[in-house]
Amino acid sequence: MTSFSRFSMLAIAAAAALGAPAQAQDKVLNLYSARHYQTDEAMYDTFTRTTGIKINRVDADDAGIVARLRAEGAASPADVILLVDAARLASADAQGLFQPIKSAKLDAAIPANLRATATAEGVTWTGFSTRARVIVYDPARVKAEDVATYEQLADPKLKGMVCTRSGSHPYNLSLFATVVERLGDQKGEAWLKGVVDNMARAPKGGDTDQIKGVASGECGVALTNTYYVARIIKSTKPEDQAVMSKVRVSFPNQGTSGTHVNIAGAAVARYAKNRDNAVQFMEFLSSPFAQDYFANGNNEFPAVKGLKIDNPAIKTMGGDNFKAETVPLGVVAKNMTKVQQMLDRVGYK
Ligand code: FE
Repeated sequence: MTSFSRFSMLAIAAAAALGAPAQAQDKVLNLYSARHYQTDEAMYDTFTRTTGIKINRVDADDAGIVARLRAEGAASPADVILLVDAARLASADAQGLFQPIKSAKLDAAIPANLRATATAEGVTWTGFSTRARVIVYDPARVKAEDVATYEQLADPKLKGMVCTRSGSHPYNLSLFATVVERLGDQKGEAWLKGVVDNMARAPKGGDTDQIKGVASGECGVALTNTYYVARIIKSTKPEDQAVMSKVRVSFPNQGTSGTHVNIAGAAVARYAKNRDNAVQFMEFLSSPFAQDYFANGNNEFPAVKGLKIDNPAIKTMGGDNFKAETVPLGVVAKNMTKVQQMLDRVGYK
């Protein structure tokens, strides 16, 4: 039995024995996390030292966490949920797994475009780090000015060169949702069709595979999140250094709407028993101290306004001062189903 299921069964048994939900005064926080970085550990220890609130952490991947929450329902011990990408956060939100909160601290610290759309009840999910979705290209085949925008991925000039992971992957769904928001439905769908027409191969693999596809010559251009590039830059393996020597990075739309950024984010669980602790933890994540750990653990950028973190790998790829898109990530929730239907129509696998 995994520690995850043992933990949740104990929690359910404890609640049943009491005949009532666990008391809210407990100095405890049950955290379901899709992030598992060493640096996150140090951050959680500091939270416990400064607040006296003990963190019980349950690790699983994004899909595993959502499945658990659904299965546990109202008996779920989860207080805070950490997921990666606005598309996943929006989907979990649409399934009723979160609850809205109001926090003046979070309102002040995190830009509104990196959070769920606010309602009268408050905000459900909040971003705590950002990552950019960039274009990598082969400078031997493609000029920098031909990959200066996402729109150019549909330009016939790039025929037979474009590689991406599945169009339905959350990273692509989120990007496409903001492209469609900017261009409108008709031009947005035409753009998706143009990208499909330019593909070097049917979508497959993850972002790292697309970067390697460019290095091997199979692809001329590809889409990837920045931290995958940073991992290869930081790698000491000769084969990784060879990959980086063959590719360049473009931060698209610098002259227009800015490069698409997504988030890793958190929300308070719908049935949180330790709600106050959960809000306190969310606010802690926005502190400069926690932001440093949260963003650097995966070579990401802080979400807090005006906060910068030095990361040599980010500098190497030209990402230390780029213009980011400001389309609210709340539109990902709004456009997700529509974009999926467009992908089906244009045959984007
Ligand atoms: Fe990823």
